[in-house]
Amino acid sequence: MGQKHSAHSTQHLARIQRLGAALDKQTTGDKRRRLLSAKRKTPSADCGVTTTMNIAALWDWAVDELKTVGVDSPRFTAELLLREVMGWSRAQLLTRGAHIVPDECEERYRGFIRRRSLGVATQYIIGRQEFYGRDFLVTPAVLIPRPETEILVELTISALRDRVENMPILDLGTGSGCVGLTLAAELPQAEVTLSDVSQAALDVARENAQRLGLMDRVLFSQGDLFGAVEGRRFVAIVSNPPYIPETDRASLSAEVLGEPEGALFAGEDGLAVYRRIAAQASAYLSPGGLLLLEIGHGQGAAVSDLLAQGGFPRVELFRDLAGKERVLRALLA
Ligand code: GLN
Repeated sequence: MGQKHSAHSTQHLARIQRLGAALDKQTTGDKRRRLLSAKRKTPSADCGVTTTMNIAALWDWAVDELKTVGVDSPRFTAELLLREVMGWSRAQLLTRGAHIVPDECEERYRGFIRRRSLGVATQYIIGRQEFYGRDFLVTPAVLIPRPETEILVELTISALRDRVENMPILDLGTGSGCVGLTLAAELPQAEVTLSDVSQAALDVARENAQRLGLMDRVLFSQGDLFGAVEGRRFVAIVSNPPYIPETDRASLSAEVLGEPEGALFAGEDGLAVYRRIAAQASAYLSPGGLLLLEIGHGQGAAVSDLLAQGGFPRVELFRDLAGKERVLRALLA
């Protein structure tokens, strides 16, 4: 036992020396002192094992690691992952710099920082992303919900809010379920069908529906676009389909390329899925039904033309806060 303990301490010392050497190269003496003086051992309630590094030192180490590989917002990312490991709020983290980090937490954190440095998105590491005020579970089987997609949701809610009858709505290509489940949560009359070609994505959406307590008003349907809902009609079809041109692939970050291919790309020009949606949507909408599509910047005119050919003569374009074309809203003629 004594031997084990001393081997354990030797390991810690070696690690601290290694870190000290690494920090020497790029950090201030002050930071290094903080790191090396963090040798106090205290039992921890969180992970049960004791260690010798404190929060401030570990956080600084992580910021340096992330900076070295050029990760965006290194301090914030390091903070988010540290909060996740410790299960702490921002305020707790900021006021507990001297807290000794339990070994298990430190190991887990180092694993997180390693994966983030290799280009894994923070959301896949922590397993969730907030969307429209709710937490959604995400795995690499689904696209990470984007804040700009809230515009699609907002426009759908404002169009349907005052309807009193039961409303069948389709979220085509639901991924994590963020769009359709938000609609189900915000519109009590909505009965939302979540469809996706990927069963793995639908499994994530189902888990999100369960967590949000929405199982009684959602349906899941696997299939390629409208193949998932043959013969059915909806008052609204909402979709954030894949729309990145294949030719843009080389300009995408490692983080984006870690998302499902089928959720991102839509042929050479990015319009392949819109062509299919525009041609078929009218057959799946009730009279006066609404079609709302997220689009990429610069796709507004082309997709509006496709919609006009598909029986949607009146199409409105909405931009996001950055002034980029973001959503098309079309009313069935
Ligand atoms: N509907 C999901 C979202 O908006 C998934 C979209 C997709 O996979 N293209 O995040």
